Amino acid sequence: MVLKSIEENDVEVLEKHNIIVTTLEKVWNWGRARSFWPLSYGCNCCPIELMAAGAGRFDIARYGYEVFRASPRQADLLIVAGPITLKMKPAVERVYAQMPEPKWVLAMGNCATSGGPFRDGYSVLPGADSLFKVDVFVPGCPPRPEALFHGLLELKKKVESS
Ligand code: SF4
Repeated sequence: MVLKSIEENDVEVLEKHNIIVTTLEKVWNWGRARSFWPLSYGCNCCPIELMAAGAGRFDIARYGYEVFRASPRQADLLIVAGPITLKMKPAVERVYAQMPEPKWVLAMGNCATSGGPFRDGYSVLPGADSLFKVDVFVPGCPPRPEALFHGLLELKKKVESS
C-alpha cells in the first residue's frame, strides 16, 4: 500500500495495517533515552551514592544506564557527582568538551547544584551550571540512589520529548 499523504482519517488505516509513522530523530531519541552512557566522574562523597546506584542492591542496569565509560569520547551523559573545585575546573571543562554531541549533564547533590556546604568557600564553584548547561538537578546531601534514578528518568522524558 502506498500512502501519498497522511491525513487524520488515515490514522485508522495505518493502525489497521500495523504501520507506525515517525521521524528518524524520534527513533534515535527513543534509543538515546533508554541507553545513556555516563562518564565515570565524581568528587567527594556523592560518588559513593553513584557507585551504590551501580551495584546490585539498586541496580542502575534496570534502566539501561549502566555502561559507565572511562573515556569522554564514548560518553553522552556527564553526571557531576559532588563539587567542582577550582583545581578540577579545567579537567571537567576538558572532558565535557571531549564528549560528542548530543550530550547531557545531570548535577547530582547540593554541591553540584549550588556549591552546597562549600558555597561560601574560596575553592569551589557555585554549581555545575556556572560551567555548562545542566539538564537535570538532583538535590540532596547526598541524594540517595533512588533520587538519582528519579533524575535520570526525568532526563529520559526530556530527551524523548526533544
Ligand atoms: S552534596 Fe553533600 S554528600 Fe554530596 S559531595 Fe557535597 S557535601 Fe558531599
